Amino acid sequence: MSFDAESIRAQFPALALHVRDKPLVYLDNAATSQKPRAVLDAITLYYERENSNVHRGVHHLSQVATLGYENARDKVRDFIGATAREEIIWTRGTTEAINLVAQGYLRPTAQPGDEVLITEMEHHSNIVPWQILRDQCGIVLKVAPIDDTGTVDMDAFRALISEKTRLVSVVHVSNSLGTINPVREMIAAAKERGVPVLLDGAQAVPHMPVDVVELDCDFYAFSGHKVFGPTGIGVLWGRREILEPMGPWQGGGDMIKHVTFEKTIYNDLPYRFEAGTPHIEGAIGLGAAIDWLGTIDREAALAHEHDLERHASEELAKLPGLRLIGTAANKAAVVSFVLAHAHAHDVGQILDGDGVAVRVGHHCTQPVMQHFGVPATARASFAYYNTHEDVEALVRAVKHVSEMFA
Ligand code: PMP
Repeated sequence: MSFDAESIRAQFPALALHVRDKPLVYLDNAATSQKPRAVLDAITLYYERENSNVHRGVHHLSQVATLGYENARDKVRDFIGATAREEIIWTRGTTEAINLVAQGYLRPTAQPGDEVLITEMEHHSNIVPWQILRDQCGIVLKVAPIDDTGTVDMDAFRALISEKTRLVSVVHVSNSLGTINPVREMIAAAKERGVPVLLDGAQAVPHMPVDVVELDCDFYAFSGHKVFGPTGIGVLWGRREILEPMGPWQGGGDMIKHVTFEKTIYNDLPYRFEAGTPHIEGAIGLGAAIDWLGTIDREAALAHEHDLERHASEELAKLPGLRLIGTAANKAAVVSFVLAHAHAHDVGQILDGDGVAVRVGHHCTQPVMQHFGVPATARASFAYYNTHEDVEALVRAVKHVSEMFA
C-alpha cells in the first residue's frame, strides 16, 4: 500500500515540533487532531482581511464574513451528503449537538417512562445529556451491553428497542475502544420500530467518508477539532422534517425574526438554533479543513491508518503484561492498552519523556473502564499523517516502560 504520509505531514507545522528534545510523535488524534497550514491560513486571512460580525451588517466586511461563514455551511452539507444547507446547524462541538437534541428535540415532548437507547461504549457526551433529561422529565436510559472485545451485543440491542423508545443515540466509532459500530444494522433495527436515530460521529468523520442520507439516520453530530479544523465549532445535522417543528433551545440574537415584549417570532432553519454571535472563524476554519480533506485520497489514507493500527496492535500485543482493550473485528485506528505493573498515568508520563504523546485516563468513557475492570488505559490514536516510524517509536517507548516496571 503506497500512501505518502510524509507529504501530508509536511503540511502540519505542529508535527515538526520537538518535545523534551525528541521529535514529537503525536498519537493523541482522537482527543484532537493537528491542523494543516491551509486551515491556519484561512483563520489568519479571516482575521486580517475579513473580520466582522455576520448577518447583521450591510458594510463590505460583514458581507465578506457572512459569505465565508455561510459557504462553510455548504461545504459541511456536501461533506456529509446532506441535501439541504438548512439542515446544518453550527454548534460548539459534538457535545453541544447532542445536548441540543436532548433539550430541543426530546425535552418538549418527553413523558415519564419514555426511553432513550444508548450503548455501553458511549462517550460521557452521549450519556449525561440523557441523564439530565431523566432528571427533568423522568425518561429512562437503556444501555445495550458490549462484549469483551468491545462489540455491541446486537441481539440485546434489538431487544431493548420497545414501543417506549423515543430515540436511539449511539456512537458511530468508539473513542476509547476504536470499535466501528454496525450503524446501518442499528438504524435498520430502530427504523423497523419507527424510532429515530442520532449518531455521534465525533470519531467517524475524521477517518471515513460519511453520508447521512445513505446511512438513513435522523441526526448526526461531529466536532471540527477532531477533523483537522478548529476547536469550538461542530455540527448537528438533522433531517429537515424533524428540525422544522422544533422550537429553539437557546434565545438571543440571530435566532429571531421579530421581537416585541409580548411575543417573539423565531427564525427559520438553521438560524433558529444558532443564538448569538457564532464562532465565525471556526466555521471558516472547518470549511478550510473540509477543502483540505478534498485534496487527499481518503480511501488510501484510511487504508494507511488501518495498517498503522494493525502494526501497533501486533507489536504491542507481543509485550509481556500488555493487554489490549478493544479488539473488535471492525476497528478504527485507535489502540488502547494497559500494562500489568504500570498505571496508565505512569505510562503516559514516561512516553511523554520519549516525545510520544498518547492519552491516558478514562477517555470520558468511564462505563467502558468499568466493563473492562481498569481505572484507565493508555490510548494511541492515529491520523492520516502518522507513519510506521511513529508506531515504532510508540512500541519502543512502551517497551521502555515495561522494562522499568518489570
Ligand atoms: N463523542 C465522542 C465519541 C468523542 O470522542 C468526543 C470527544 N472526545 C465527544 C463525543 C465530544 O466531543 P467534543 O468534546 O468535541 O464536544
